[in-house]
Amino acid sequence: MDRETAAKPLVMIVEDEPSLVTMLRYNMEKEGFRVCEAMDGEEALTLLAERNPDLVVLDWMLPIMSGIEVCRQIRRKPRTRDLPVIMLTARGEEGDKVRGLNTGADDYLTKPFSLPELMARVRALLRRVRPSQNKGVLEYETIAMDLAAHRVTRGGRHVHLGPTEFRLLQFLLQHPGCVFSREELLNAVWGPDIYVEPRTVDVHIRRLRKALNGEEDADIIRTVRAAGYALDVEEAVA
Ligand code: CA
Repeated sequence: MDRETAAKPLVMIVEDEPSLVTMLRYNMEKEGFRVCEAMDGEEALTLLAERNPDLVVLDWMLPIMSGIEVCRQIRRKPRTRDLPVIMLTARGEEGDKVRGLNTGADDYLTKPFSLPELMARVRALLRRVRPSQNKGVLEYETIAMDLAAHRVTRGGRHVHLGPTEFRLLQFLLQHPGCVFSREELLNAVWGPDIYVEPRTVDVHIRRLRKALNGEEDADIIRTVRAAGYALDVEEAVA
């Protein structure tokens, strides 16, 4: 995944109607989004954990597990609690709008919907949840990443990073405080189709730490035993 690709928002489409999936994928990619797709509710939850999308377009009526249940589970988990969800439903499903919003969907569209309207709502939701990213700067504590200039500073000090460390930090800055396993980081930073030893993540985390943590700084990357890593201020050990 090159630098430009990694910066594109990832939209997950959960829909069991193949023609609609194809149409949505085509148009989303044309608009500059990356797309992943699931055909049922169970697959949606698996994919959610693997790919960490920036937004979900979720059909109401799905095999195995309904869109409502998927949405409930998304809201239940700390990591996906704030993930934007747009719910799709068929016309005439009375009261669905209210139920959908109660379940925690951020927005709602009735099929057949207009594509420009869906795209407008997708963009609006992404702007709302990723405000700093739209300015092209990601920030956490004293760390700032300027995506356009490809430049990182900590407390004003310039930090030199290799391309992999840059993408790794970018991903962590997009989800501060969240713990990711090595496999999740591999999927998100290297891509799901690339085979890399999970231990490779440790090597790059070590390099990232070394570059990021000056002599005066607290370690900003937390190692969670048997679980993975998080961008977090390490809790002081008593
Ligand atoms: Ca359906």
